[in-house]
Amino acid sequence: MATVVVSARGEQRIRGGHPWIYRADVVDVDARAGDIVQVIGPRQRTIGSALFSDRSQIPLRMLTRGETLADASLIRTRLENAIRFRESLALDANAYRLVHGEADLLPSLVVDRYGDCLVVQTLSQGIDRLLPSITALLVELLAPAGILARNDPKVRALEGLEQTVEVLHGTIPDSVVVREGPIEYDVDLRRGQKTGLFLDQRENREAAARYAHGRLLDCFSYTGGFALRLARQCPEAEAIDISADAVARIRANAERNGVPHVEAREANVFDELRRLERAGDRYDTIVLDPPAFAKNKASIPNALAGYKEINLRAMRLLAPGGYLVTCSCSYNVNEAMFEDMLHEASVDSHTPVTIVEKRMQGRDHPVLVGVPETYYLKCFILRRVE
Ligand code: SAH
Repeated sequence: MATVVVSARGEQRIRGGHPWIYRADVVDVDARAGDIVQVIGPRQRTIGSALFSDRSQIPLRMLTRGETLADASLIRTRLENAIRFRESLALDANAYRLVHGEADLLPSLVVDRYGDCLVVQTLSQGIDRLLPSITALLVELLAPAGILARNDPKVRALEGLEQTVEVLHGTIPDSVVVREGPIEYDVDLRRGQKTGLFLDQRENREAAARYAHGRLLDCFSYTGGFALRLARQCPEAEAIDISADAVARIRANAERNGVPHVEAREANVFDELRRLERAGDRYDTIVLDPPAFAKNKASIPNALAGYKEINLRAMRLLAPGGYLVTCSCSYNVNEAMFEDMLHEASVDSHTPVTIVEKRMQGRDHPVLVGVPETYYLKCFILRRVE
């Protein structure tokens, strides 16, 4: 078996439970790109096995710990476990995440289910090399009509992997209709953002539906995730996204779901919130679900300023008794930072708000304890008191 020796600090990190070892903690390599390697500590002790990458800043992603090394049956067992866990959740949807990388102990692997189609992403050299066997296992375990590799995320470039979108098995239609609770979405698996939909928000849409009422403003609405779900109980509903493509899909999805009163428009949320505030508009329910503003540590201050700006304006637009569903999917902005930012926005906008719920990504996207990178989505439901 190929081997990689790590430093004392690397060994400590592994023993502390983190699945990633950085370049600085790798001492010696006798392995090729994408190998499964035996990881050895500075005193020649075996400390586990890992996926090895010769290009990434993260050369090792742990598969096993201690003396037990990864073997041919490991990936099968972990896939089976991941699938069984999702089945046990009995989700009221036929689109959800089946494999969430590190949290399913399958580092850098994503598998999403969209009806009878599967979408996979292999985001490191090691897991990418296993793609043929993973595909065969998914066919055997789930008998999907088609499997699509959405291997176009930029992180693949950091691994020296090409960016591709290809059908690996069966057929993938140009558009797939999936159901989430009472709502149907028409999804483009090849070109949609992420793997097609923002599946991680499913339970937050459901939660928001417990409070949504009156006049709704859904900001950063993409194909209408929140707007469509909440419009059923909001007689007026507006959705804003900067992408013309997304807006066209919201309109189509609104018709399909019998909520044609959803008014979708293409605009920049930052400008739009300012304009609505000047016009003296008021809403009873506002959703803020922006893209990740903090892509890395260096951009945290700017990201927080951006989050504060939209939250402050949304608070001002909120009618007394109204709800603000506010999210951040930047893992670099942790829950405490997010809450501090909301506090500042509340003070600066002179808007007393209470936290009604603190939420995170859906249960099909579990968080691995001790690995903050897997807790990326924060969703607070706030209520304007007066
Ligand atoms: N709420 C959505 C997911 C939002 S993803 C759902 O539940 O499905 C973030 C969206 O923000 C993307 O669709 C992107 O096109 C849009 N976006 C990014 N910057 C924007 C801006 N400045 N103004 C409006 N929309 C923006």
